[in-house]
Amino acid sequence: MLICFEDEEVSNTSSNGLPVCRDYVSGQCHREACRYAHVKDKNVEVIDGKVTVCRDAVKGKCTRPNCKYYHPTTSSSSSASAPDQTPR
Ligand SMILES: [Zn+2]
Ligand SMILES: [Zn+2]
Repeated sequence: MLICFEDEEVSNTSSNGLPVCRDYVSGQCHREACRYAHVKDKNVEVIDGKVTVCRDAVKGKCTRPNCKYYHPTTSSSSSASAPDQTPR
């Protein structure tokens, strides 16, 4: 009996790590669209200076009140559903 394991997403978890903005921690970050994580909630888990981006929040489907993953704030509020037009 052979069982095939397909764990391709295991190595992909590290790509979700986002560095915490040091300027924001010290209250010095004034960028509107900062590429680093602005952690507002204390329940967000910070590991080694990085947070894990919540995949559900990116899709807008995270319903957890105290999610331990980081919810990135979308700067553009005008376009609610912006299709990803990345030609490859
Ligand atoms: Zn920042
Ligand atoms: Zn979440």
